[in-house]
Amino acid sequence: MNALQSWLKTLLKYTFYISLLCLLAAWSDDYVIACLVVALVMLLVNYYQLYSLNIWLRDSKKRSPPQVHGAWGYLYDNIYQAHRRQRKKRKKLSKLVERYRNRAEAFPDAVIVIDKDLSIMWCNRLARLELGVVWPDNLGMPLVDLLPFTQFVQYINKGDFTYPIELPAPVNPNKTNEYRVIPYGDDNLLLISRDVTHVAQLEGMRRDFVANVSHEMRTPLTVINGYLELLPDTAFAADALAQKALYEMNTQTQRMQNLIEDLLVLSRIQSSSESIYDHIVDMPRMLDVIRMEALHLNCDKQHQIQFHIEPDLFVYGVETELRSVCSNLIFNALHYTPEQGVIDVYWTQQDGRARFVVTDNGQGIEPDDIDRLTERFYRVDKARSRKTGGSGLGLSIVKHALNHHNAALHIHSVVGEGSEFSFTLGPEFISSSEAQTEC
Ligand code: ADP
Repeated sequence: MNALQSWLKTLLKYTFYISLLCLLAAWSDDYVIACLVVALVMLLVNYYQLYSLNIWLRDSKKRSPPQVHGAWGYLYDNIYQAHRRQRKKRKKLSKLVERYRNRAEAFPDAVIVIDKDLSIMWCNRLARLELGVVWPDNLGMPLVDLLPFTQFVQYINKGDFTYPIELPAPVNPNKTNEYRVIPYGDDNLLLISRDVTHVAQLEGMRRDFVANVSHEMRTPLTVINGYLELLPDTAFAADALAQKALYEMNTQTQRMQNLIEDLLVLSRIQSSSESIYDHIVDMPRMLDVIRMEALHLNCDKQHQIQFHIEPDLFVYGVETELRSVCSNLIFNALHYTPEQGVIDVYWTQQDGRARFVVTDNGQGIEPDDIDRLTERFYRVDKARSRKTGGSGLGLSIVKHALNHHNAALHIHSVVGEGSEFSFTLGPEFISSSEAQTEC
């Protein structure tokens, strides 16, 4: 029915009401009563239309609207069109969700979608198989109930997802999974888990091999070193060439021993499972010992070394590892800063965190080298580094020790101006005063 027909019908309807009004008025001789009766009839008709609309909305929105003329007809049509548009949008949206789910199902890794309260919202098939998620029973379950490892709870509560974490698979402790958390949308997180058992086994074998070889080489080197210490007092050392040879042998043996010691320290840190919250480290006292060693080493180069230490700043951690970190960074500043350079060491509390900084005004490091400094055996200037007796493992040890303490090494350097090496320990590492007295 076109608009003109509809309007004609409406006109006819109102003509009927007016005629009814006139008839009633003529019959009763009272216009007020006639108006009231006609108004009541109109009200009842409209109420009936409203009731029909309600029934249609409730029961049969998908069906075409009933044939109604005038304003009510337009209302039905508009509601019907709006519903159709909405239905189309909903269909499109559910197709999109379906496509997204199919893609996630095709992922070669286990995927779990987590909401801002860290509860499980959705998971793919691999997550059900590899992580033991029971779907849909586990919908809304806290993620930490699925992966109840202390390390994982610390990792997820810290909220720093720059690096993945390696832990056993919940359904099979002999398997190692790499868990990576990716934030997306409004406070939602995606947990991606990958089986890295093979890689972890290879890495373990490599670590064991290096540790065993280093350990085995210690004894022969000690024997060689012992003889080298005896030789200067014998007739053999009288010859100038022999003296030169002895000097070279001493230097190289020393280098080899340093290298082996560093390799052993590195493998010990990498395989360390020592808890970082069990012991309190008296950092001010430890830094004071390093300061004495630095002053002793500094005799030749005459650097101006200043230590700015907060005397009450104690932290939780593994003392040997934190000592390795601080001494490596401080001794590197001594080695790579020319004579009479200025070196400052800071151990301070900032915004509730403990911050360690070493600055020097040495030669500085090129930006391209900075990213690679923590790789094993990476040196900017190999010849110079060997002269300092460095093994090229110092910053690698620093990186792993800091990683064990959930911290990272930050390097800022400008060529020709100097370098700054720093790390920050979170508030959870700072020990309270009561704990210090226990210590
Ligand atoms: P190394 O035993 O050779 O010192 P590290 O891992 O400690 O090994 O350091 C790696 C490289 O980083 C060094 O060879 C050196 O080139 C560079 N480096 C470290 N600290 C500094 C510094 N304070 N200033 C300039 N270069 C540095």
